[in-house]
Amino acid sequence: MLSIKELRASVEDKDILQGLSLDVGPGEVHAIMGPNGAGKSTLGHVLSGRPGYEVVSGSVDFDGRDLFAMETEERAQAGLFLAFQYPVEIPGVSNMEFLKASVDAVREAKSLEALDSVSFMKRAREACKAVNLSVDFLKRGVNEGFSGGEKKRNELMQMMLLEPKLCILDETDSGLDIDALQVVAAGVNAMRSADRSFIVVTHYQRLLDYIEPDFVHVLAGGRIVRSGGKELALELESKGYAWLDGAA
Ligand code: ADP
Ligand code: MG
Ligand code: MG
Repeated sequence: MLSIKELRASVEDKDILQGLSLDVGPGEVHAIMGPNGAGKSTLGHVLSGRPGYEVVSGSVDFDGRDLFAMETEERAQAGLFLAFQYPVEIPGVSNMEFLKASVDAVREAKSLEALDSVSFMKRAREACKAVNLSVDFLKRGVNEGFSGGEKKRNELMQMMLLEPKLCILDETDSGLDIDALQVVAAGVNAMRSADRSFIVVTHYQRLLDYIEPDFVHVLAGGRIVRSGGKELALELESKGYAWLDGAA
């Protein structure tokens, strides 16, 4: 699904990713943990093609295609979904318009017919229900005046509608109370399937009690310095990161 080889990337001429390699197979859930400033969010931005994030060297194969040969929109249309740590507000554009446009673009890329508005609304209502979000949120501006928990649930709703192949969740747990955390985790778990993969970036082991990862990686100093199973997350929770070689 995703194969990252020796990726080096910089932001404003500062080297952030320094030879990062990671393989994510179909259906797998990978957790990425690591100290603040390690480059976790940078990895998500580089993969999604956010402007300002420069690839210096290395390669990324996404579902058999050269990811860096694709424009940002193409990556999303090919099934890459990045849920942002700080979701943007888009005042004046309703959530529904935004979602419909995104779903239309993804379906077009898959050579599927566009959904008529009745079918779209049916799916959107179901997705709202699944994440415990009132359907009124569809009419509001994208993320406009949403609380932290509402933004996260709104992202999850987008993810459900877009049916991506690879979902990258960047600190989806920060700022969530335990109820919202469980709703998010249940939504992610419901979306787990043999052909959909997840990269879950988190500071805390807590989220991984609810979203059980197949693999846990430590990102430190711009590289993956340790990989293991879910027990690694527990070890990190008790020992921190300083004991790891190469951890900043
Ligand atoms: P993490 O998500 O692991 O906490 P980040 O990827 O956000 O780390 O940041 C890694 C490093 O890159 C930090 O030193 C941060 O200051 C820097 N960085 C990230 N984005 C930018 C940016 N847009 N401009 C300048 N520096 C940035
Ligand atoms: Mg951070
Ligand atoms: Mg971050």
